[in-house]
Amino acid sequence: MKIGILADVHSNLEAFQAVLFNLEKRGIKKIWHLGDIVGYGPNPNECVELLKKKKIISVVGNHDLAVIGKISIFDFNPYAAQAVKINASELSQENKKILSNLPLTLKPEKEIILAHGSLRDPIWEYLLEIYQAEENFTLFKEKVLFVGHSHIPTIFEKRENKIYQFRFPPDKAFLKFEKDSFYIINPGSVGQPRDRNPKASFIIFDNEALTLEYHRIEYDYYRTQEKMRKKGFPNFLIERLSIGY
Ligand code: ZN
Repeated sequence: MKIGILADVHSNLEAFQAVLFNLEKRGIKKIWHLGDIVGYGPNPNECVELLKKKKIISVVGNHDLAVIGKISIFDFNPYAAQAVKINASELSQENKKILSNLPLTLKPEKEIILAHGSLRDPIWEYLLEIYQAEENFTLFKEKVLFVGHSHIPTIFEKRENKIYQFRFPPDKAFLKFEKDSFYIINPGSVGQPRDRNPKASFIIFDNEALTLEYHRIEYDYYRTQEKMRKKGFPNFLIERLSIGY
């Protein structure tokens, strides 16, 4: 079965809808999300409601926890903190409750684990370097750990105790899992890509063929930016959507 794997939607409804539409066209109904459905963007309620409506399985991210007041915004940079405040002032009680019920890690099936940052620190670790992957590989026995948080599409493969990293896999990059390898995989971000590519990023994972494919798709970020301007978001957060950084 094919599964859509998404991360870091960040209240960006246009990007989220574009990705969901793309998955729908392909007949993919099962979707996993790796945390941070809110923060940074202008539509927290709509994004949480879509998560629920589409029965998307999700772990919790640092922005989700900040928006519901479970972690302090003092740990965020000023731009992120301001976006958290705007999202928190708009998010309904019902949607806050949905976020408060999301777990730190999830095992949606036998050989798979999901976390936002990493297994060592699901809330805060930006898993970008081989030495970090090495420490995290000691913490799980499943074949694949999917993470988000860094917004950087990345594959780590552990093969015969060596770790290989493939950074910035391009659109349509294809991977077939090796029989004896273990993986840590980041699909990149739907709502705020940071690899100098403004297109929404996600993965399609086939849990029978044990393959995955990276996808990048365009969405109407002008519309997202317009809403952010009206709601008083920091310029830096508005502009970064056009350059994907
Ligand atoms: Zn994020």
